[in-house]
Amino acid sequence: MLTDVEIAQSTEMENIKDVASRIGLSEDDLELYGKYKAKISLDTIKKVENNKDGKLILVTAINPTPAGEGKTTTMIGLSQAMHLLNKKSIVAMREPSLGPCFGIKGGAAGGGYAQVVPMEDINLHFTGDIHAITTANNLIAAMLDNSIQQGNLLNIDTRQIVWKRCVDLNDRALRHIVVGLGGKANGVPREDGFDISVASEVMGVLCLATSLHDLKSRIARMIVAYNMDGEPVTVDDLHATGAVTLLLKDAIKPNLVQTLDHTPVFVHGGPFANIAHGCNSVMATKLALKLGDYAITEAGFGADLGAEKFLDIKCRQASLHPDAVVIVATIRALKMHGGVNKKDLAEENLEALEKGIENLKKHIENIGKFGLPSVVAINAFPTDTHAELELLKQKVEEMGVEVAISEVWAKGGEGGIDLANKLLNLLETKESHYHPIYELDCSIEDKLRTIAQEIYGADDIILTKKVINKIKKYTAQGLDHLPICIAKTQYSLSDDPTLLGRPHGFKVTISDLIPNTGSGFLVAIAGSIMRMPGLPKQPAANNMDIDENGKIVGLF
Ligand code: ADP
Ligand code: MG
Repeated sequence: MLTDVEIAQSTEMENIKDVASRIGLSEDDLELYGKYKAKISLDTIKKVENNKDGKLILVTAINPTPAGEGKTTTMIGLSQAMHLLNKKSIVAMREPSLGPCFGIKGGAAGGGYAQVVPMEDINLHFTGDIHAITTANNLIAAMLDNSIQQGNLLNIDTRQIVWKRCVDLNDRALRHIVVGLGGKANGVPREDGFDISVASEVMGVLCLATSLHDLKSRIARMIVAYNMDGEPVTVDDLHATGAVTLLLKDAIKPNLVQTLDHTPVFVHGGPFANIAHGCNSVMATKLALKLGDYAITEAGFGADLGAEKFLDIKCRQASLHPDAVVIVATIRALKMHGGVNKKDLAEENLEALEKGIENLKKHIENIGKFGLPSVVAINAFPTDTHAELELLKQKVEEMGVEVAISEVWAKGGEGGIDLANKLLNLLETKESHYHPIYELDCSIEDKLRTIAQEIYGADDIILTKKVINKIKKYTAQGLDHLPICIAKTQYSLSDDPTLLGRPHGFKVTISDLIPNTGSGFLVAIAGSIMRMPGLPKQPAANNMDIDENGKIVGLF
């Protein structure tokens, strides 16, 4: 079996100009980054603004195991399959972060024969978007500390600075640091810390912005600190809005690349799926809708986090109307939900599988609550047995839901034909009645309760004293009309990562509430949330190398 990078390297890529020409773009529409990558110019985005929209398909999943259950792989393979059926489909997906790439998870450009290429570039520095975001974030931090150094005219309370520095690596030693040591000339000492770049609100605003103008106004209103009177200090108060937007002038343009079958893919933006909304940029999704008959996109983690935020935050803010949802399920994750230990997942266990299906069932119900039809994609792994695959298929059919076994990882587009046909049939026969799960004008508490009860299946929510006070404060400030972005574990429907399957009888504790005014949502913290991951004992980076001919190994 070839590794992902070996498969990618054995594929002859097409010139990106040829890929672009098949979706109606000429060289004038492209800003070329070599032969195989291009950004789409802002003029072109304007030019196609009035094109008719294609159908919007979201790929989401059950609660995953730590390795990921194959949403990206399934999405890419599905689009490859659509092209084999002569359907003009375009993928809009996230840019991989370097942190997880060198950590446990490896690359995020698909897998097996369902990949986006050039995978080495996409997984490494790509077109520099994440570096631009890092620099923009750190310019704000530098200007903030300088404002304090130069007399602190904004009266910033150095104990209430909420803006952190960032770097796109997993580096736990930077979580809590002290800056400004060394005497008067070297700044004002204070506690600080680093987040991973993809957790920066700059990433969030880039992904939700609909234009350069919108990006600028979002950047202006991001909160960086509170002053001695407890009032918010924004990027605009630092007079940093213009310079920060300037640093993002290219990062805002969607990147065009290709699948192993040379079909078009936009890879753009990649915010965290816990403290942010976890979807690629609105601009890339809209471009895929304008240029394709089918736009296929992904939201991070399971449907309780990713799909909920896609449907309640992204689609609502950007006036997107999704048509259908693909729910990815794997035998191994369902067996885990049915009580099997991680080390025993390779063994057939029909009983545990049947028990674990409860998790999938809840996600199917949830998608229905948003008024959307769904199809289940069983992402087949080499360890799955025939009996397991057939049992799962039969159980989903009994629920009256479309289901297909997807073998795109092993076979590329050919392995996704059944899934593509089921999806096309669904789009023709079932109408979308998409609506968010809560209204924006209900109270913060009601929004939190609705998500916890309707989506997670909780009995109720518990609000800490701090949160109760913050709700009062934000309501008085008029922030109560914002949607909610809940940060919680991806492994469980609840806020406890050990409660697998379909937990009942639990309450979700909200321990903090943070306004992300640029992104336009309130982040609610449920559980301990990591904004700066660490590396494992054996990081993936240990196995990576490049030889004297430039050949890369170990990048999964
Ligand atoms: P997600 O987007 O849900 O996080 P990915 O599609 O990135 O998941 O897949 C996670 C990892 O699992 C990747 O390394 C990918 O190559 C691998 N993978 C996905 N599907 C399969 C499969 N059917 N068989 C074997 N490995 C797979
Ligand atoms: Mg993914």
